[in-house]
Order: sequence, then C-alpha cells, then structure tokens
Amino acid sequence: SAMREQRIKKTKTVCTFCGVGCSFDVWTKGRDILKIEPSEDAPVNGISTCIKGKFGWDFVNSEERLTTPLIRRGDTFYEATWDEALTLVAEKLGGIKEQYGPDALGFISSSKVTNEENYLMQKLARGVIGTNNIDNCSRYCQSPATDGLMRTVGLGGDAGTIQDIAKAGLVIIVGANPAEAHPVLATRVKRAHKLNGQKLMVVDLRKHEMAERADLFVRPNPATDHVWLSAITKYIIDQNWHDVNFLNDKVLGFHEYVKSLSQYTLEYAEQVTGISQDKLIEMATMIHEADGVAVLWAMGVTQQRGGSETSGAISDMLLVTGNYARPGAGAFPLRGHNNVQGACDFGTLPNWLPGYQLVSDDAARKKFDAAWGSTIPAQPGMDNQVMLNAILEGKLRGMYLMGEDMAWVDTNANHVHEALSHLDFFVVQDVFFSKTAQFADVILPASPSLEKEGTFTNTERRIQRLYQVLEPLGDSKPDWEIITMIANRLGADWNYEHPSDVMDEAATLAPIFAGVRYDRIEGYNSLLWPVAPDGTDTPLLYTDGFAKPNGKAELVPANWIAPMLADKNYDLHLNNGRLLEHFHEGNMTNKSAGLQKKVPDTFVEISPELAQERGIQDGALVRLESRYGQVKVQVVVTDRVHGKELYLPMNTTSEDAAVNLLTGPTTDVRTDTPAYKETYVRMEVLRDK
Ligand code: SF4
Repeated sequence: SAMREQRIKKTKTVCTFCGVGCSFDVWTKGRDILKIEPSEDAPVNGISTCIKGKFGWDFVNSEERLTTPLIRRGDTFYEATWDEALTLVAEKLGGIKEQYGPDALGFISSSKVTNEENYLMQKLARGVIGTNNIDNCSRYCQSPATDGLMRTVGLGGDAGTIQDIAKAGLVIIVGANPAEAHPVLATRVKRAHKLNGQKLMVVDLRKHEMAERADLFVRPNPATDHVWLSAITKYIIDQNWHDVNFLNDKVLGFHEYVKSLSQYTLEYAEQVTGISQDKLIEMATMIHEADGVAVLWAMGVTQQRGGSETSGAISDMLLVTGNYARPGAGAFPLRGHNNVQGACDFGTLPNWLPGYQLVSDDAARKKFDAAWGSTIPAQPGMDNQVMLNAILEGKLRGMYLMGEDMAWVDTNANHVHEALSHLDFFVVQDVFFSKTAQFADVILPASPSLEKEGTFTNTERRIQRLYQVLEPLGDSKPDWEIITMIANRLGADWNYEHPSDVMDEAATLAPIFAGVRYDRIEGYNSLLWPVAPDGTDTPLLYTDGFAKPNGKAELVPANWIAPMLADKNYDLHLNNGRLLEHFHEGNMTNKSAGLQKKVPDTFVEISPELAQERGIQDGALVRLESRYGQVKVQVVVTDRVHGKELYLPMNTTSEDAAVNLLTGPTTDVRTDTPAYKETYVRMEVLRDK
C-alpha cells in the first residue's frame, strides 16, 4: 500500500469555499496536493476557479488537524479512543434525554458537510432522540431569503441557473459582494455585462468591485432596501408598467398588495433611503425596460431586523413585473457556504423535514415515522438563537454540534460563550480545534471534504458528487460515519455502507429528490432539484406554476421594519462581510499557508470624510466599542465606504478583532437571523500610525 500511496492520481471534487459550487480534478501523490485542474465538463465553472478553489487546500495536511478524539479533564483534554469517546457521548446524551426529556438536547448541523451527513444529523435528532431542536448556520445568513421566497413563490432556492443569469437584460445586486464572496459567479456577470450588453445595477452601502462596474450604483441609508423596493414597485404600477397578464394568471393578492404600497411614495422613499426621486425613477425605468430582471442578494439584505420582509419585497417586485419562470429572470439569493442550500434542503431546520415538508404536517411526519420507526414531535423545535437562551434558562442541557464555529460566528460572542459554558454536556465535531471546541466536553475529529464521499448542493440547487481524494488523516472519520456510530450506540440500527445508501433513503421520503441517484450524478454529471422519479431535473423553476396551492404565487404586503439608528453614544454604523481570500470566518482558510501569505491583517475601513473630521490617519490603531463588547483594529482610509459607515471584515485570526464581539442580540423578526448589519459603535484612537 506504500506504493499505491505514492501513485499520482486525479479525483473529481466540489469546492467547499463558497456556494457557487465549482468542481474540478485534484491531482495528488500520497497526501501531497499537486494541483487543482478545472475541467471543461464542470457545469458551473468550466475551466475557471478563484483563488480559494485553486490554492485553499493545504489545510487538510495542517499540523493542527484533530486526529484523535479528545475528552475534557478539568481545563485540558486528553486523547481518547473512539470507543471511550463514543461510550461517553451516548451515556451523556442518553442520560439527559432520560432525565429531562428529548427537548433538553439540541443539535447544530453544518453547511460545510454533505447532504447525506445533514440528513443523518436530523434523523438522529428527530428519529433517534425525538426532538426537532435542530438547526444549521443558514440561521446566520439566508433563512430570511428562504422565508421571503417560501411566502411568495413557494421554494427557497434560486429561480434558475447561474448560466441563466447571463441571459438577464438587467442584473440587480443588493447587499452582496459577489466579486469577493462568489467570485466565479461574479465573473459570469462581468462577462455578460461586458459582452452581451447586460445592464448592471448595484445597491449597497459599500462601493465594492461590482459597484465600480455598475451602470447604476446607489447607496441607500442602512436597512432601507425595503423602502426603495416598495417605492419603485409602486411607481411601476402607477405607470401601468406591471405585467397584467402574468399577475392575472399566476399571482394572488394584488389588490391587498397595492393597498399596502400606498405610503411608499417617491417623496417618502427619498426621505427614508436618501436616494433622490430622480434616481428612484431611473431605477424603476431600468427594470421596466429590461428584457429579464434577475435580483441577486445576500447578507446586506438578510442580516437585518427586516431581512425576511425585504426578501419578500424583492420577490414581490419580480412578480409584479412578470420576472419569474423564464431564463434570465427571478430571485437569486446567493448562498454563502458550499452546502448551506443542501443543509436546509435535507432538513436540518427546526420546522422543516427533508425536502421542505413541514414537521407540523401530520401526513409528512407519519411518512417519516413509518420509515424510521420513530415518533417525531409535531411542534417545531428551537432554532439556534432560542437554544442559546434555553441553555441559560436551564431548559437545554446537552448539545451536539458538527462543523460549526458558533462561538466565533454567532452575534454577541460574549453571550454565546456564557451560554456554551453552561451546558451540562457538549460534543463538538470538527476538523480543527475551533473556538467553539474550547467549550466542549468531548471533541470528535472529523474528515474534510477531500477525505470523504457524498454530495453538495450549490446556490442554484445543483446536486454534485464529491469523491474521496485522500484517506482520513490519523483517526479522523467522515461525519456520516461518526453520526451513525453515535446513533447506533443510542439504540438505532443504521446500516449505511456508503453515503449513496443515505441518498436512496432520502429520495424515497422527499419528493423533490425522488429521482436523485448516485448513478445519475457520476463524475461531472449533476441534477438540479426538484428531480422527478425518472431523473428529469429542473434548471428553471416555476414553468408549470408556482410551488403554492393551485400553482399561484402570493404577493406579501409591504411591511418595512425600521432599523435601530445611531445615537450619540454609538454614532457610527458598522457594516461587515467577507474578503476574497477567506472562507467565512476563516476556520479553514486561516490554516492554509497558500492563502495566508496573500491576506492582509484585519482592518477596519473608514471614509476619507470621517478620517478628516476626526484627524485619523491610515494605519492608526483604534478601539471600536459597541454595547456588547470591543475590538482593536487598524484603520484603512478608503472611499469604498462613505460618511459614518465603517466596514470590518469578518475573517480574522485575531480574537481582539472579531466582529462578533461587537454585534448584538437583535434578530430578524420572522426568522431569528441575527441582525449583524444593525451594529453601531464608537471609535477611539489608541495609537496614531
Ligand atoms: Fe470555490 Fe466559490 Fe471560488 Fe468556485 S467561486 S472556486 S466554489 S470559492
């Protein structure tokens, strides 16, 4: 086997560094990654990749990988065998269930692991333990987009494919920075803009690369997207530019919707958003004149108290203008993590079973109970925000968390740390000793994507296979194997030999995956859900009607949730987001020497106006302080931000600069998604340059 180890081989995989879902071949010799080779056959990216996909992989051989189970002893951990660790996990989780009931346990799944692993995690929670207390990190990002789409058009996924976006006459990007967060998708938009005469409108607080390229760049006041969206939709209707046939045939609720728009006049919108009436008319006119409008949005919209309502307003505007069910039109929420779409699709949410079947739906629940021999509760479970509070109230006693750095990623980090340290028993499963692992009682070493098989689903609902490139490092194991071992120690009798067995089971229980089988997604083949039993997939949604009763979409009334505002103590608005070189909070990319060399230290961007007003130089060290905590960070003066807007990247290696020490407890009113973008701070200079 030493000889076999040294053979050069190439294996197809799917990138784990964002939701675009690029795929490529990995060339290896032993554990050395020789190169990443994109292929013409890759459905999303063809021969392109971004810097993360190309250079981000050496973390798999990092010295810091967890290679053996760890068990807490006082303030430290000792290395344990799998048998010892699993025995303890089963005894403690089982004991808490026995003593306090199944709802005293919580499960956090992961948008980085495979579809099959997500399916098993929710099956463990629901089917083996008997609780719906399961959530994933879409709670931190795209749950509001899902809510807005579910209510209007009925499915929480992109309306068409990434390739379709190139066919739009107008692309509108709201509160998203795809050039850094979704690079290969951004490249497609850049190309269509340059070569096909596609128009580009960017609405954002920050003048990022796509804003620089846009035909129209608009900077509204923070958290006012709902108001300009409603105002221009009202204007479109007032001009008789709405699509009357589309509305008559396919959409319900027009009358009530129009009524709800009455207050959203151009004057009102100008006053609230700071966008001039002329600009608002220009925006409406661009939409009216475009042959196909695609709206792309991300955390700038969703991480607000009104994130769900604004997502609904985007979908309303598209319905009013007839921009669904044709290529190059529709709603495109941009999923952040590689598999946040799949984590939700496969049911790691407190209210949804796999395939978006409600846990409150008796028939759906009975189907799962019959297959699993379980009794799933009819009540939705706790989301991750409610779980944290329930820990402090003594109601949630134990937690099993997989591949999620909650202590770093959730808002109001000091509160999260307090909650996690109050758990009776806490299992963390990860590739690295994460910040969250510091609070664990047992740490289980997992294998990253290159060391396992399975599928990921990208932002356009495309299900793609990844193949094992390397053996698991040390004693680490694929997450699906670990969950299976825990389930069986808790009395289950799971016999999955390969992730394909898990997919086969999911396909029998979730109609949107009915025709998903591994032999249909071999190599670079892929399927976009919903997939019919005969294997026919659905690149473009809603051509046979919307996913609602009678196939009719529903307009949701306009309902702007006004944000919190600056006050005299906390006078600066703190925006936050990604950098090109990093994956989310950086827990894998920070371990990649190839990327780390290319990354600047953490910094806060401030505007030239603010720098001048306060006499702050580029390079100065400042303290930012919110009601919830403080960070120290260096200043970069740039016109990417303006006025009293600051921008702090979320990727950091320094605990002194973690943005979530500053963010607070406020959440989206419909989904509990933290309002990361509604953060106010004051700034104090600690040291000039
Ligand atoms: Fe990976 Fe996203 Fe870059 Fe594609 S665009 S290579 S999926 S990080």
